[in-house]
Amino acid sequence: MGITPQTKANALKPYGLIYDLLKNYGVEIKWVINPDKKKDGIDFRIIEEDFRSGSFVVPVSYLTEELQIVIEKWESRGVVGKFLKESMVLPVYTKLSVAPKWTLDKQNGSIALAFFKAAGIPGEAHGGYDALNWKTPDELGVCDDLFIMPHAEPKFQSHKNLYYWNRTYKGAIWAGCHAGSELENLFGPVADKKDPEIIQLNFLSAGKPGVRTSGLVPFYEHRFATPPYNHELPADPVAQYIGKSDKAYINGSERILYPKKANAWRAGTKKIILDASAPDVPELSHGPGCILIYGHGFDDPRNGLVMYQVSHDISGNKPENIAAMRAFFNWSFYAAEIKRRENIIRFENEANNLIFAARVGDDILDKLGIEPILFELDKSEVRSQAREKLKILANYMQSYPELLLDIRSHTDSRADDSYNLSLSQQRVQATKEYLISMGVPETKISGRGYGETTPVNNCQNNVPCSEVLHEQNRRSEFILSINCELYSGNLKL
Ligand SMILES: [Zn+2]
Repeated sequence: MGITPQTKANALKPYGLIYDLLKNYGVEIKWVINPDKKKDGIDFRIIEEDFRSGSFVVPVSYLTEELQIVIEKWESRGVVGKFLKESMVLPVYTKLSVAPKWTLDKQNGSIALAFFKAAGIPGEAHGGYDALNWKTPDELGVCDDLFIMPHAEPKFQSHKNLYYWNRTYKGAIWAGCHAGSELENLFGPVADKKDPEIIQLNFLSAGKPGVRTSGLVPFYEHRFATPPYNHELPADPVAQYIGKSDKAYINGSERILYPKKANAWRAGTKKIILDASAPDVPELSHGPGCILIYGHGFDDPRNGLVMYQVSHDISGNKPENIAAMRAFFNWSFYAAEIKRRENIIRFENEANNLIFAARVGDDILDKLGIEPILFELDKSEVRSQAREKLKILANYMQSYPELLLDIRSHTDSRADDSYNLSLSQQRVQATKEYLISMGVPETKISGRGYGETTPVNNCQNNVPCSEVLHEQNRRSEFILSINCELYSGNLKL
């Protein structure tokens, strides 16, 4: 992905590949970024070859023949891949495990279609090609990951749900052109039980809700920006693109974003591209004037990631357009991962009282207060104590059809690595078969053996350890997820 010149084939199709791997093959991808690099610097080097701009690495344990064929298909579309023959320690920034679900804005969502087409991401990923199937902000719910709002005319009444969606479900919001500055300036009263409260949709800029000095300088009051721009934070995931995207950002009604003069960006807002010589600083704003910014809504890590990119349309074939669209996809995959992995599912009783809240990715046994299911050394049979626990789990799964389960089995480090990998797969299989025999539909259970690759302690090969410590590693995890086709918002106990 660090090849120059950057093209749709070598720099955008990789996002189509990882979407395919995440969506259809359950691969967990490692995103490798060197935390100390400079702009366009090297992430890692193999023999004589340098890798730049954030490579996606598929762990070797996923490389079945079927997967190799999938990867070759994408290579024929321009993705440049490399098989690493030896194991290496790489600086993994994060793992990617979910295929994002984009929702296009009914107003002007069609502007973004070109991004997906360039990356080879299918229509099902963004609600298809017909605006009738796209959404307005008030239709967004827990199963929408990313709301894509290129050039729009947001209004408080129609867009205030973005405020709640960002806070309740970690909904991630992308705005292009003047949709960003318009959004930041929206405020109004909402009925919160008895007290009306003023809220403002100033996700990335500071200031009290409804105060005249809060928000951004409206797009019609300031001049255009003046490239060249500064490209900052080279090790940030969103900044993983090669070269400068300046020329992609000089069209449309909004080409720069400024906080109002008495106002500032929120402290945690990341300024990826800024104009250090912005013409209206310091007259209209103390700046900095930004071209691309993102951050958690209201600077709170519990909220979803919001990003603004200026310009009416950043798409095109030139390297600057590729770089701008790469930022869009970097943010997309990163924001979806945060949202889905950390999203809260409410478990309520019939009186709508919260019993407990679990996140997608939690171990459900742990949440139900059931002791871990452990295996005997070198065995994959489900033991009788484990059967009792699995019965409780099976009842639970049948009562809540929205729930999905991913079984992850592990071994201790004794015996060789490949033997342990197959032993852990047998454990998954045995557990799965038992749950199916208890009435859980097969389609709701996925699973994978991890062998001895992820111990919970440091009892790795050749480390002397007690029997108790070894046993802790011979475990299965039952990772919770939800089926968004069925999920309505709450799960009743
Ligand atoms: Zn526009």
